[in-house]
Amino acid sequence: MPELPEMETYRKMLTDRIAGARIVGTEVTREKSINLSAEAFDSELTGRTVWFVERRGKYLLFHLDNGKRLVLHLMLGGLLFFGNEEERPDRTVQVTIQFEEGSLYFIGLRLGFLHLLSVKEADAKLSELGPDPFDKRLTASAFAARFKKKRGAIKTSLIDQHVVSGIGNCYADEMLFAAGIRPDTKIPLLAESDWERLHEAMHKVLVEGIERGGYMELPFTAGDTLTGGYNDHCAVYDRPNEPCRVCGTPIVQIELSSRKAFYCPSCQKEI
Ligand SMILES: [Zn+2]
Repeated sequence: MPELPEMETYRKMLTDRIAGARIVGTEVTREKSINLSAEAFDSELTGRTVWFVERRGKYLLFHLDNGKRLVLHLMLGGLLFFGNEEERPDRTVQVTIQFEEGSLYFIGLRLGFLHLLSVKEADAKLSELGPDPFDKRLTASAFAARFKKKRGAIKTSLIDQHVVSGIGNCYADEMLFAAGIRPDTKIPLLAESDWERLHEAMHKVLVEGIERGGYMELPFTAGDTLTGGYNDHCAVYDRPNEPCRVCGTPIVQIELSSRKAFYCPSCQKEI
């Protein structure tokens, strides 16, 4: 599932192409992906201009010139492509938004969605999201305080969107590796110095993910060489039994709240 770096990469590339651009048409082949009929969606959107694209956690918000927002969550398997019919990947497209310069294709939206909402509705929908990892007010101690009442494994809360938004399975494992903390460590056992290391590792890993263009498997446009640069870069995520890149110890895979977690038993010491 795309996480903060993947959505941030999309946001930047979308901004380059559609900020200030006018929508000239839409096509919906799966009405379940939107919150209106295909007809109403088309008449609401055609002629509107996208002012800018904002990211909140793993969501993207397309701000329209009439004050409404298109709220996108890709969930599992969703992706975006910008270009024309000849360039686009040979995958089922659920929604297309056409601009003068090209079309934005929403692909693989089986669980994902694209909803047209008023400001109030959008705020209500996102009201329970925790702070963004890059929120300036989220200092190391404010970060630690978000976990105060939790007792379970650190990874389970790290990917809880109410605690902090934008972190998922892959980057959680990577930041725990960078901080030298095992994913199954019980939250009450973490000391102040552990929170400081994890807070720093969170920024470091997410910044690196963004700089490398995240791990999405398909490019956003023809000729896009940025997207997917984080693939093959993971230190522990999805590398069971492979040698740790730091110490050579085989990476261990465990299950936490029915999700996989990966760690190096040597670099990440048990507390
Ligand atoms: Zn190691």
